[in-house]
Amino acid sequence: MSLKTILSQLNFRQRCKRYGLSLWQCPDFVFIIMGIVVIFSALFTYTISFRYIEDPLLIALIVILISWVLLILGYIVTHAVEKLAEATRLKLEFLTIMSHQLRAPFANLRWVIDLLVSGRIGSVPEDQKEYLDILKENSARLEELINKIITVSKIESGRLPLEKKPISLKEIVQKVIHGSKVFAEASNVEIEFHSEDNLPNVVGDESRIREVVENFIDNAIKYTKNKGKVKVSLLKKGNWLYFEVKDSGIGIPKEDQKYIFQKFFRSQTALRRQARGSGLGLFIAKSIILAHKGKIGFSSEEGKGSTFWFTLPISLSKDN
Ligand code: ADP
Repeated sequence: MSLKTILSQLNFRQRCKRYGLSLWQCPDFVFIIMGIVVIFSALFTYTISFRYIEDPLLIALIVILISWVLLILGYIVTHAVEKLAEATRLKLEFLTIMSHQLRAPFANLRWVIDLLVSGRIGSVPEDQKEYLDILKENSARLEELINKIITVSKIESGRLPLEKKPISLKEIVQKVIHGSKVFAEASNVEIEFHSEDNLPNVVGDESRIREVVENFIDNAIKYTKNKGKVKVSLLKKGNWLYFEVKDSGIGIPKEDQKYIFQKFFRSQTALRRQARGSGLGLFIAKSIILAHKGKIGFSSEEGKGSTFWFTLPISLSKDN
């Protein structure tokens, strides 16, 4: 075994990164902890036995026996954690490869559908246009899902690149609200926007922050419907910009609230009311906001509505 291989084996941080886990969840770390537990248990057993047992042979036997039991237990635990970590790594690798492989054919598919819909290669009969529109909408949704899976795999492997620059959160919110108008009208939901004037910029990745704002507003409309109201607010709170989306929708049952930011989680009420959704948006939103050193949270009451919020630090900005 070369020195380089030995050194890479000892580089725990790198090995944990390979599994997409933090240091303390990683098998190598568990192995070290188990080793420390065995050493301390042996010393403890020795001290206790020494006090109550006179025969040194018996003391040695007890210490060896307890150490062996703990060593075997430690091996089983570390092995199980390693298997789990390996399964997580394979899942991550599978997700990354699958989503990247799917993205190209879907881009082509969308391009062909757009071409057909545009009528540039011949007019499409009226009765067939409707089917093309369905095809277009569904392929767009699948593409969105693939992009979300790619983002999740980047987050999990700790490789989500952020292109930070000073940005106006107010402009982003205005654009997202403008873009959501058709969906809001179709869902019979009214959107109100209140913002303080002269808000400072924040430093962040514009497209990623827009993704979070879109997710909050899209969810608020999606889980409201029927003459509902969505109130969007943006204000300055100390050294933070505070963004909030309050809806009068279905709310989230208390027992589901602790899982809301977990990936692929969708509450039962949401599943019953709204088929469209992946349960990835809020997981991505949380990762993005935390990567900007902000905070994210929500409050909700089933049947009454929800309020999702995030904050971004102003102090990071260079041009305020
Ligand atoms: P998606 O909406 O695609 O399922 P998200 O990650 O954005 O995924 O949301 C996760 C879950 O959180 C949703 O499935 C829903 O159960 C719940 N949720 C999010 N926003 C709201 C909201 N405004 N009102 C009620 N439930 C919500």
